[in-house]
Amino acid sequence: MKEPVTAYVALGANLGDPRAAVLAALDRLQALPQTRLAARSSLYRTAPVGAAGPDFVNAVAALRTSLSAPDLLAALQRLEAEAGRERPFANAPRTLDLDLLLYGQARIASPRLVVPHPRMHERAFVLVPLAEIAPALVAPQALAALTSQVIARIP
Ligand code: AMP
Repeated sequence: MKEPVTAYVALGANLGDPRAAVLAALDRLQALPQTRLAARSSLYRTAPVGAAGPDFVNAVAALRTSLSAPDLLAALQRLEAEAGRERPFANAPRTLDLDLLLYGQARIASPRLVVPHPRMHERAFVLVPLAEIAPALVAPQALAALTSQVIARIP
């Protein structure tokens, strides 16, 4: 079997009961084949960036997985679909959004998958939870550049 890789996944939801959706998604990630949940951040509440609708609940999970990066992306997209995500227009409110942030040290630029995720450094809702579970991966200057984005840890 393939050596496991540490992958980081960003979770976000802002429809229905977003906290329940993120917690359920963490359980689903843990249940993926050849994968275990190695760490998860706290849950955070954030205002939508470039999107309409209610506040998001966000988190980041660290997975140890032997799935390939494309297989992991496909699994994330299945979980999104199962969570009832509808995409009537770009940046529409979503029940569940799962982004693959990092897959080990891999750099991937295929039509369907770009890793590291190209917009992760612009988003406090990604970097703040990522820094909580993997501080070595987030430069303090990157966090400092995002202090205008309001993000609150959910106790
Ligand atoms: P979004 O609406 O932000 O969830 O974007 C989904 C689209 O982004 C899908 O077509 C994916 O194939 C593509 N994509 C490219 N790179 C990534 C990534 N690192 N994580 C998740 N989706 C990605």
